[in-house]
Amino acid sequence: MQLRFHPYDLAMRHVFTVAGSSRSTTQGVQVEIEYDGKIGYGEASMPPYLGESKASVLEFLNRVNLEQFKSPFELEDILAYLDGIAENNTAAKASIDIALHDLTGKLIGASWHRIWGLDAAKVPPTMFTIGIDTPEVMRQKTREATGFHVIKVKLGHDNDREMIQAVRSASDKPICADANQGWKDKVAALDLIYWLKEQGVVLVEQPMSKKNHDDIAWITERSPLPIFADESLQRLTDIPKLKGVFSGVNIKLMKCTGMREAWKMVTLARALNMKVMVGCMTETSCAISAAAQFSPAVDWADLDGNLLIANDIFRGVQIVDGRQTLNDLPGIGVVPLENRKSSA
Ligand code: MG
Repeated sequence: MQLRFHPYDLAMRHVFTVAGSSRSTTQGVQVEIEYDGKIGYGEASMPPYLGESKASVLEFLNRVNLEQFKSPFELEDILAYLDGIAENNTAAKASIDIALHDLTGKLIGASWHRIWGLDAAKVPPTMFTIGIDTPEVMRQKTREATGFHVIKVKLGHDNDREMIQAVRSASDKPICADANQGWKDKVAALDLIYWLKEQGVVLVEQPMSKKNHDDIAWITERSPLPIFADESLQRLTDIPKLKGVFSGVNIKLMKCTGMREAWKMVTLARALNMKVMVGCMTETSCAISAAAQFSPAVDWADLDGNLLIANDIFRGVQIVDGRQTLNDLPGIGVVPLENRKSSA
């Protein structure tokens, strides 16, 4: 197995603001693993607040030796080895995991949603995020989001009601509200959640700090809307701790080390009777198509990361009727575009 990789920064179509930060590019690294005449593609995306960077991912990947494994089908052993190289580095680990899944799927000749036994027709509509902006710009962006059935709004600043009203004045579509840990008081948060429900909001993500699970559990117990964990969740072992604190979990490949662990997380969350969302970072169609493979098994999909960048280098899942629609190509279902620089 030959591993190749190179840095590739993602250019955002619009400056992106969430509670706490704004940015116009996202650091990324593209990965290829070649075996028996097939190439598997993977990618790491590193939004700054998660602690990884091009430098840390390249350093991690330089330590990876896949030559010691006979075949890419030794996924459990390879991924356990990867996990043992260093703590954290979850995006770096995900880049290899995705490439291995793409590769093994191609060697088998089947897409991963088929290998997992999922019905591609059950992909949920994907949310389309309207970033924090002036009410006028938010109204305009909402009107432009034709073709999407669910709007996501980032809350957690001091003008939450104003922003929901701006979106609501331009659309009657369901709204998902992501507070990104921005609310500080549980009573005020619950009060706001009751108001959000009246405005047609259907779920709330990460109302308060991940350090404040007692208050989040208090909200979840009383909330008329399901409360999802995002910042409170990284990996499989976190899920049992979140039972009783949140109603559901938002699973993201870059935080959980990739598709294999993500699929285990879906299974575990279901066993604990929790709801499941699949989310993403700003990513090319490579990582978005990888995450879309298990999306028929989740309740909510938030997979608009590839739509937010101006320099995608893959053709993969395509938006059809507001859904990231799966194709039947083997592996993760992506084809590299002409402008993808080969690192061979
Ligand atoms: Mg979130």
